[in-house]
Amino acid sequence: MKKYKGACHCKAVQFEVEADLTKVIECNCTHCQKKGLLLTFSPATQFKLISGENKLQSYRFNKKLIDHLFCKTCGVQAFGKGAGKNGPTVSINVRCLDGVELSELTLTPYDGKSR
Ligand SMILES: [Zn+2]
Repeated sequence: MKKYKGACHCKAVQFEVEADLTKVIECNCTHCQKKGLLLTFSPATQFKLISGENKLQSYRFNKKLIDHLFCKTCGVQAFGKGAGKNGPTVSINVRCLDGVELSELTLTPYDGKSR
């Protein structure tokens, strides 16, 4: 696990998270495909929102289990919140982390479309 800073495009929403980028999920479900999300998951205890609480808009669909949070100003979804097996989990959009070279990541396909 390594510490990263992340933000939406307009930087209203900023956060810090400890994440493991050796496993980054590229999911083919309708939601991830349309938003282009590249995801990694961290326990909510490893996530700290620095700014932008009042800028976050929630979007829920399907079983409505995951709180997809996007910035009301720029529309970027930098993270979402859900209930994991081992407690509250945050899904991080790796595209929104500072200092990450996307071309150096090993992406793990996830067949969300079939679930
Ligand atoms: Zn924004």
